[in-house]
Amino acid sequence: TYKSVQVSLGVKLQKQLIRITAITIISSIVLCLLGLAVLGYVLQAAHESDHVQMQIETKEYKERIFKQMDKNMQVLTILSRVFEAADITQSKEILANCISKANRSNDFISMVYMKKDGFGVMNTPGFGTWEDFSLQDCHPYAIDAIEKAMNGENAVSKMFNSDVYYGKLFVYAVPVYRNDEIIGVLAASDTMEIFTDIANGSAVMGGEGYVHLINAKGEFLVRSKNAIVKEPVETLFEDPYLSSESKTNTQEALANGESVIGEFVYDGKKYHYYLEPMGLNEWFLFCADSIWGSVDLLSNVLIISGVVLLLILIVVNVLLYSGYYQFRKTSKALMHLAYWDTVTGAENTVRFDQNFQQVLEEGKDFSTVAINIHNFKGINDLFGKARGDMVLCYLKDVIGNNLNEGEFFCRDTADLFYILMLEADEEKVCQRTKAIIDYISQTSMDYGEYGYELALYSGIAIKGDREKALLALQSIEHTHQVDIAVYNSKMHDEVRRKNSIESQMYPALQNKEFKLFLQPKFNLKTDELVGAEALVRWQNPDGSYRYPGEFIPLFEKNGFCLNLDMYMFEQVCQQLKEWLDSGIKPIPISINQSKILFSNLKYPDYITQITEKYNVSPRLITLEVLEGVATNNLQQLNALLDELHAKGFKISMDDFGSGYSSLNMVYQLAIDELKLDRGFLSKSTQENEQRRQIILEQIISFAKKLGISIVAEGIETEEDKENMLSLDCEYGQGYFYAKPMSVQDFTERYMKERQ
Ligand code: C2E
Ligand code: CA
Ligand code: CA
Repeated sequence: TYKSVQVSLGVKLQKQLIRITAITIISSIVLCLLGLAVLGYVLQAAHESDHVQMQIETKEYKERIFKQMDKNMQVLTILSRVFEAADITQSKEILANCISKANRSNDFISMVYMKKDGFGVMNTPGFGTWEDFSLQDCHPYAIDAIEKAMNGENAVSKMFNSDVYYGKLFVYAVPVYRNDEIIGVLAASDTMEIFTDIANGSAVMGGEGYVHLINAKGEFLVRSKNAIVKEPVETLFEDPYLSSESKTNTQEALANGESVIGEFVYDGKKYHYYLEPMGLNEWFLFCADSIWGSVDLLSNVLIISGVVLLLILIVVNVLLYSGYYQFRKTSKALMHLAYWDTVTGAENTVRFDQNFQQVLEEGKDFSTVAINIHNFKGINDLFGKARGDMVLCYLKDVIGNNLNEGEFFCRDTADLFYILMLEADEEKVCQRTKAIIDYISQTSMDYGEYGYELALYSGIAIKGDREKALLALQSIEHTHQVDIAVYNSKMHDEVRRKNSIESQMYPALQNKEFKLFLQPKFNLKTDELVGAEALVRWQNPDGSYRYPGEFIPLFEKNGFCLNLDMYMFEQVCQQLKEWLDSGIKPIPISINQSKILFSNLKYPDYITQITEKYNVSPRLITLEVLEGVATNNLQQLNALLDELHAKGFKISMDDFGSGYSSLNMVYQLAIDELKLDRGFLSKSTQENEQRRQIILEQIISFAKKLGISIVAEGIETEEDKENMLSLDCEYGQGYFYAKPMSVQDFTERYMKERQ
């Protein structure tokens, strides 16, 4: 239906939106993770290539320093050869002169020729030449180097602060030979310029790096001006730059004369450094670059762009979700219409069935209960639709208050409610249902403006669905005796039968499958034929018969009795005419009339039209009505009966004593005949038998006094007949005389003699 289409559409759209949102969120997360992975990889690669670059450049740098030192050492060595050859060492004056001249032509600070005896000549431009210069006046580092040279080594000293020169110096020392014997040492002090030149240059790491010279203690011997750390620092290990890990690694490497890579932090940025052992004086080159910092910057940029991407994705997702939310909001009204009942605000069957499916899937115990109000239509007619709606809301509230956790209910159409109870025990379900029914009947009087006691009835399907609960409900629809019916499989057969009858009844009428049967009626005293009752038989195409008990109750419910009764009425008239036409003296025929005929004021006109059509006197026709007919408006009914009487019809009250008939009715209604129900004939206990006799006697005498004739139904035996005769009952009908028979048989048996 329209609603369920809406719902399934809504559900579909909702599912799709959820899927899109999920896909977007998942792909966002995957994208972010991928981005991070790429970032990590890029950073890793950048770091590695940076490390390699640092190593290469530091080694190159080392080479350059060594080359420079070699050059200086060569200068000194050449000079030493000259000194050897010229033997200028004998004269102090010549020596001093030579040294000062030699010193002027190179970049050394001081130059010393030291003899084996520990005395020599030193020249320092600007300070002049010092003859008889003692080794002991030298800096201990210089002494070290000179002594090494005395032993035949070319030596370079460690750095030291000079008294004469502002800044650090170190010393080269080479031996001077005579006849393969060391006679002295030529030494020259040099500034750190060879280091600082390079250290201050912009050649390292494409201008991004710089190099320090440090000793094995981590003390800076030469610190580059380009250092990232701007503060004056004495050693590498001064806090707070190195991480503890880098610190220990670096100290270890320094102690072992190995290279190492470390990390320091400055101004919130991380930098890497590389230490390369010089292989000389336990010196190390310390190389760092700002690329690492900028790599950090790069990573920051990447992270920021990652975050921005994430934010964009979040915004997209939020937008998507808000779109979804908007959709849900607008479709909620739609959904509400589709899922909720507008009258009571309860859920509807669409929703119920969805929830029901859930319960099935979860495998819980359950029962479906259908609840309905007896004569809800009456309430609507009597009090109006608004009041009817109020009653429905009241029911909804009561039902809603009687649910357990996880249970639900809905309103179908009109006053039909379904409850799902999470309970499969028949007794418990019945108990709970009864409690609801009782509560409503007890409280409904005081509910709302007009008090009206609501009578509910219910169908229960243990572990069954709405259809079964409804079947159970319908099985007690028109009875007031029980208010709860539990579904069983026979109910299905009942419905199937009913459906097949309902689908066949119209064609059957067309095909004249409904046959007129007649059962004779006799005078009990004289055994004289006094009339007949028309009884319908449904002849199936295969020739078999269906009896009225099978279909009349259904036709009374579905209204088809109207058609059938009129048809039978016509059949009777036709038969009477046939008899008349063949010169047979007709007998009066009784025709069963269903109750609804009497609610139609045109009914007397209809039937007289038929009698007129066949030219049959209404005096030949008795209308049998059931006692239930009197529950309607009695005045109106009497007016109708008067009209029928006026036209010549007789009225008989059928099945008297079977239901709730009372003698009251007999004198209030203008009837001509009383048909005592078959039940009156069946005897019971001795005690009751006496009472039965008394009552029957009274009824019969009472009727007689009113001029009403009495017909006993179901005379099956001679004894029955005698019994009725003794009670002064005049007429009888039953298997003792004859069973109902076809009109042909009837004519043959009873009418031929009346020709
Ligand atoms: P009813 O009007 O009380 O009809 C008498 C029923 O009792 C008939 O059943 C008849 O066959 C049966 N009967 C007659 N004598 C005896 C007897 O000695 N012993 C027993 N045990 N039964 C006997 P049937 O023909 O099955 O009809 C059942 C009911 O169906 C009728 O009860 C009547 O209320 C209804 N009915 C029959 N034909 C029509 C019809 O054309 N229109 C309407 N509205 N109702 C009809
Ligand atoms: Ca009858
Ligand atoms: Ca009867």
